[in-house]
Amino acid sequence: MVLIVPAPIAFEHTVTERFLRYVVIDTQSDPASPTCPSTDKQKELGRLLASELQAIGLRDAHLDQHGYVYATIPANTTKQVPVICFCSHMDTSPDCTGRDVKPQIVRNYRGGDIVLPGDPSQIIRAAEHPALADQIGNDIVTTDGTTLLGADNKAGLAEIVDAAHFLIRHPRIKHGAIKILFTPDEEIGRGVDKADLNKLGADFAYTIDGESAGHIEDETFSADGAVITIEGVSTHPGYAKGKMEHAIKIAAGIVDRLPKQGCSPETTEGKQGFLHPIGISGALEKATLSLIVRDFTDHGLKDKEALLEGIVKAVMKEFPRSTYRLEITPQYRNMKQVIDRHPEIIDHAMEAVRRAGLEPVKTAIRGGTDGSRLSFMGLPCPNIFAGEHAFHSRLEWVSVQDMEKAVQTIVHLAAIWEERA
Ligand SMILES: [Zn+2]
Repeated sequence: MVLIVPAPIAFEHTVTERFLRYVVIDTQSDPASPTCPSTDKQKELGRLLASELQAIGLRDAHLDQHGYVYATIPANTTKQVPVICFCSHMDTSPDCTGRDVKPQIVRNYRGGDIVLPGDPSQIIRAAEHPALADQIGNDIVTTDGTTLLGADNKAGLAEIVDAAHFLIRHPRIKHGAIKILFTPDEEIGRGVDKADLNKLGADFAYTIDGESAGHIEDETFSADGAVITIEGVSTHPGYAKGKMEHAIKIAAGIVDRLPKQGCSPETTEGKQGFLHPIGISGALEKATLSLIVRDFTDHGLKDKEALLEGIVKAVMKEFPRSTYRLEITPQYRNMKQVIDRHPEIIDHAMEAVRRAGLEPVKTAIRGGTDGSRLSFMGLPCPNIFAGEHAFHSRLEWVSVQDMEKAVQTIVHLAAIWEERA
């Protein structure tokens, strides 16, 4: 019997040079802007990405008028394979400047703190960044300490483009049609507002925007907003005895009774949800209190909303002539509800991570992602690691080796979908 063992795939080391090209282009998004993309400069990176994808040989690669980049890696198999999409975002966070990014590479990291040369007060401390302990011997990309790096999510962009380049140059690796989608304005919650899913034509997708190497995220929070409008009783303060019911004081009473141990962001982690006030405004007569409600399950959300209403009613008892209105607005839902209907999405991703030589770890995101919105728009979309750490800050970093592992994971994932079709 002759056993034919396929030759191992010889990967390249080109992802970092792509990454360094992308991070020097300022793509900060702006929540105050009504346009799409919110900042025109994001299109500068979009044009570069479209032209690089064209140069690789993806003939349909283009930037559309809303600042989205679309491209297709054509199928090279006769099998019927589901069309999968890899997705990353081009913008960086409004929380930290992304102008004049000056990346540096700390080669062969030996452990300890990394002092950033452009502002020595900026120190990536090993004690505060435990993930650094896994990077001994690796090459770590940081900024000079005066800007963010933008590994969130330019690491993902570089990894997807590099994987596309690799697949085109290695036709021995069989795969179905693979779609690429690069979005603007993810950091301001508008990343999929103008995404045209019909045009994209994918069955399943993966965002490449996670943190530690090997991690796959298939869960997000489920999220509602709550607004409490309080009508008090107004009188002249000089003649208010026994008459006035102060709307501001009612609102303050509600805030004061919100849970402190548990059910608040400061005291929860993992799979625990919370009630969290995000805005308060008002005067004597009328006050408005806004909150967000977060949990991983629908019944958990309902429980927290019932708890909130209970608190409101208890406070209102002390103000019998005042009234309130509580409005709950759905925001987004845990994408696991959608992804669990297609277990192969996660199974294939776990196998791809293993083939890249890593131990897959499934985790939950204590927030929402473009993927959770895409999932409920009909495109199930978990999140795979990109290697980015300490994002939205001047201490942001990513390692060359983790980016290379992400490229390998994408390539293996494309092949696994074909193998198992
Ligand atoms: Zn991101």
